Amino acid sequence: MLKIIFATGNEGKMREIRAILGDMEIDMRSMKEAGLALEIEENGTTFEENARIKARAVAAALAAQEKARDCVVMADDSGLEIDALNGEPGVYSARYLGEETPFSEKSAGLLKRLQDVPEDERSARFVCAIAAVFPDGEEVVTRGSIEGRIGYELRGENGFGYDPIFYLPEYGRTAAELLDEEKNRISHRSRALEQMKKELKKRML
Ligand code: IMP
Repeated sequence: MLKIIFATGNEGKMREIRAILGDMEIDMRSMKEAGLALEIEENGTTFEENARIKARAVAAALAAQEKARDCVVMADDSGLEIDALNGEPGVYSARYLGEETPFSEKSAGLLKRLQDVPEDERSARFVCAIAAVFPDGEEVVTRGSIEGRIGYELRGENGFGYDPIFYLPEYGRTAAELLDEEKNRISHRSRALEQMKKELKKRML
């Protein structure tokens, strides 16, 4: 049985991850469930770097406590890249306009900056990187993304974060207007996780 500790305190993410890896023989725990509370500074400049920083920090903390030696430690980092803003907010997505600022305000701030940007230049993507640190110290990082466009107003009540301004042309809806199951099927996180699942399977043979 493969043991995984996922470096997140976010229950929503844990649910999504459990659903995607659900058909594998794994024992998956969050950091909290593993009895670990850790403040990690995400000072990387890419999603991949930040995911690695988090996974390494948790692996090091567990090693220092002589816990979970046989576990794979995983972490993710994600965010929204807007082409017309040179990739902003990018790795600063959670911190954009201040960590405590509600996402409705952050989103309204982005819409304002894009007010003169025409339809065909409003391309954007959600990106997710997932890093895994294996018990022998090997590191693997996978990446998933989903392309869309920034809309003109906030639409939809589902999802979280920047979902209400992320419009998916092929669905004719924003990510916040998709059902959870629909979003989970196509999300950047699920795509990065599917890649990671392949990497895990290779190592379980
Ligand atoms: P993380 O938890 O450090 O990866 O922060 C990711 C941030 O990017 C979140 O706080 C959101 O602002 C944004 N983000 C990531 N994934 C999504 C998504 O699926 N929908 C909306 N916003 C997202």
